[in-house]
Amino acid sequence: MRIVFLGAPGSGKGTQAQRLMAEHHIPQVSTGDLLRESVAAGSELGRRAKAAMAAGELVSDDIVLGIIRERLQQDDAAAGFVLDGFPRNLAQATALEGVLAGIGRPLDAAVLIDVDFEILMKRLTGRRTCSVTGKLLNIHFSPKSELDACLKAGGELVQRADDNEETIGNRLKVYRAQTEPLVEHYRAAGLLRTINGQGSVDEVYQRVRQVLKA
Ligand code: AMP
Repeated sequence: MRIVFLGAPGSGKGTQAQRLMAEHHIPQVSTGDLLRESVAAGSELGRRAKAAMAAGELVSDDIVLGIIRERLQQDDAAAGFVLDGFPRNLAQATALEGVLAGIGRPLDAAVLIDVDFEILMKRLTGRRTCSVTGKLLNIHFSPKSELDACLKAGGELVQRADDNEETIGNRLKVYRAQTEPLVEHYRAAGLLRTINGQGSVDEVYQRVRQVLKA
C-alpha cells in the first residue's frame, strides 16, 4: 500500500496515518516529523529548515526531497508507506512520481481529509503530544482520561513551536496557495479519494479504510 494523505494542517493526517501504520505495519513518513528531528538534533539540515518552519513557510524542495529519497530507500518502506505532509506542492508531487516510477512502485491513492476552517483552528491551537508515549492529543477534544494518563506516566503535554495562532494562520494560507492545487493533480491522475475529516478519530478511520478498501 502506497498512500499520500492530503489535507490542511490540523485535518488529522498524522493521526490517521498512525492508525494505518499500526494496522498495516507500513511506516508513516512525515516530513514534518523528520524535519523537527533534524532541528532538535541541531544538524546542518535542521539549521537550514528551522526559520521556514518557525514562520509556517515551506522548507525548500531540495531539503525535503533529500529527506524523502533517503527515507523511502530504507528497508521498511519496501512493503509500502503512508506519506503525511508530503508532497506539499506540485514540484514535490512530480519529483515523487519520478522516484516511484524509478523503482516501479507507483502510488495507489491520495486520500484528501476534508475539515472546516473553524475546526482546524481549534484542533491546531489545542494540539499536544505526550512526551512519554508520543501520542497525539488535544486539550479541547481528547478524553480527560487520556490527558491524565500521559501526566500520570510522568509525561508532559508538549505544544509544537509552530502551533501558535500567528504561525497557524500562515500555514493555512500556504496550504491554500501551494498544496491545495494537488487535489486537482491527483483527481486528474484518478488517484483522489476524498473523505469527511470531521467526527471522532475512529469514525474518520473507518472512512479511510472504506475508500482504501483496506
Ligand atoms: P507538518 O508537521 O506537516 O505540519 O510540517 C511542519 C512544518 O514543516 C511545515 O509548516 C513546513 O515548514 C515544514 N514541512 C513539512 N513538510 C514539508 C514539505 N513536504 N515541504 C516543505 N516544508 C515542509
